[in-house]
Amino acid sequence: MLLFKDLIWFFKQEKKSYGIGILVLVCVALINLFPPYAVRVIVDGASKGNLTREILLKWSLLLLGAGFIAYGLRYIWRLLIFGASSRLGRLLRKQLFEHFTRLSPQFYQEHRTGDLMAHATNDIQAIEMTAGMGVLTLVDSLTTGSLVIFSMAFFISWKLTLLTLLPMPLMAWSTSHYGTMLHKRFYKAQAAFSDLNDKVLENISGVRVVKAFGEEEAENEAFRLLSAEVVKKNIAVAKVDALFDPTIQLIIGISFFLAIAFGAKEVVNEKLTFGQLTQFTIYLGQFIWPMLAFGWLFNILERGRASYDRVNMLLKVKYEVLECEGAKDEVPDGQVVFEMASFTYPGTHLPVLDKINIAVNQGHTLGIVGKTGSGKTTLFRLLMREFDLAEGDIQIGGLSIYDLKLGALRAAIGYVPQDNFLFSTTIAENIAFGKPEAKLEEIKAVADLAAIHEDILQFLDAYGTLVGDRGVTLSGGQKQRISIARALLLQPEILILDDSLSAVDAKTEKAILQGLKEKRSQKTTLISSHRLSAIEHADLIIVLHNGQITERGSHSDLMAIEGWYASTYRSQQLESLIEEGGE
Ligand code: ADP
Repeated sequence: MLLFKDLIWFFKQEKKSYGIGILVLVCVALINLFPPYAVRVIVDGASKGNLTREILLKWSLLLLGAGFIAYGLRYIWRLLIFGASSRLGRLLRKQLFEHFTRLSPQFYQEHRTGDLMAHATNDIQAIEMTAGMGVLTLVDSLTTGSLVIFSMAFFISWKLTLLTLLPMPLMAWSTSHYGTMLHKRFYKAQAAFSDLNDKVLENISGVRVVKAFGEEEAENEAFRLLSAEVVKKNIAVAKVDALFDPTIQLIIGISFFLAIAFGAKEVVNEKLTFGQLTQFTIYLGQFIWPMLAFGWLFNILERGRASYDRVNMLLKVKYEVLECEGAKDEVPDGQVVFEMASFTYPGTHLPVLDKINIAVNQGHTLGIVGKTGSGKTTLFRLLMREFDLAEGDIQIGGLSIYDLKLGALRAAIGYVPQDNFLFSTTIAENIAFGKPEAKLEEIKAVADLAAIHEDILQFLDAYGTLVGDRGVTLSGGQKQRISIARALLLQPEILILDDSLSAVDAKTEKAILQGLKEKRSQKTTLISSHRLSAIEHADLIIVLHNGQITERGSHSDLMAIEGWYASTYRSQQLESLIEEGGE
């Protein structure tokens, strides 16, 4: 019941829907008392032999009328109460989604996507259920239940009422008990089914790998095992289900048996009329649903409670990346300075960056090279405040990034990640993601700069071509170039290319870099790359090794040192010569 208290804010907000809905619900409960009474009058009339055609017609029409009114009113309360509960679902989903979009990368590192999806769907559904079905069962079982008991006891026989209601608490208990069991088993069956789903999904998207390694039979076997598990779990559900119905029927049967056996005795003793006994049994039938509902209510509330707590806990998670008080809201210029001691990812022990001191002037290009895992991406993520430094500082345009509003900081930066991501919309919309109001001319200009314009024209609908499953399949290089165009459209003070030319051939890479150099001569560019040719013209190049700067300088400086840079550069030159068929 405590959950209802927690949801009071919502009930207040929807007081009209709930108020009228509950009122109508009570009206239906009252109207439902009438048909058994009408039947009693008719049966009594028939048994006493004084039932005229007019009386029969009158009461039959009254019965019909009551039926229609109840029909209309039921429609109204459903619309009002279930409508309100759907709005609660919508509200919570919106809050949760907005919250998800604001949370930091660290949060996503600590939570599994599948779990978050489950909260956004199953948990919200369970809360919605409480606000709809829960309210209904509570009100209905209380009003219908008490009205029916009152009518049976007061108008017919309180002794018979007491007797026939004896098995009813058992019914409420069974519903609640079996309901819990059913829910637990159903949950396991669902989980098994979702594992099976994941397996199918993985095999379809990875079918080429499966075939290439000749693993079809092993994958088939794994699928068979998962499938058998699903069947096993579903049979466990069916077993409870199979027990539930007969148990309830048995209890109802006992109740009716008591009513008819003792009721008939009362009729014989002339303490009750035929009509009264008929009316009594119909009321008894009406009492079953509120009792079942009462049992359900506990399950609905229990599940709703757990779900509400989980959703609330998520909503309470702070954004983690915080702005300091008085943070500036101006977009800084492109001078970048790293002055940091060391950085360790939260939840890990080993530092991934150590003693990083770099200064990049406005309008200059910084090249960062080093093996995979040397810390290049981490450096960029720190600059964008995806993670915060414990000690040291990073500055942009002479200001500490920690003294800037997040919006201003991110507006200064255009980031092209290693693992680019395109949405399932058109190519134009993908490029204009950060600036939806951009004109097609602007989009074309940046696409040209990213050397993807010609490719796009080849597609059936050019810039209107859909990307992804329902549209064109793009090569890795094409995706990378679209991501670059997306970042360029924002004309950022600082452009970061995080190994984002790896799938582009050397010639195209050269063309893109040349274009950037001309168009962005006044702006800062940070490039990390495996291929040294991508950064050889940078104003400053640093070599990262295990998170430390081991070499720094211009291309010619580094060639003169004859270290890792010089030897890697030579071997890469040789490789590309061989690839081009040179000698
Ligand atoms: P690079 O971009 O040079 O390939 P990264 O900056 O991605 O290198 O990674 C540097 C090191 O940090 C690696 O050892 C990597 O395993 C680790 N690392 C990267 N991201 C995380 C993370 N989110 N949590 C913990 N460790 C991470």
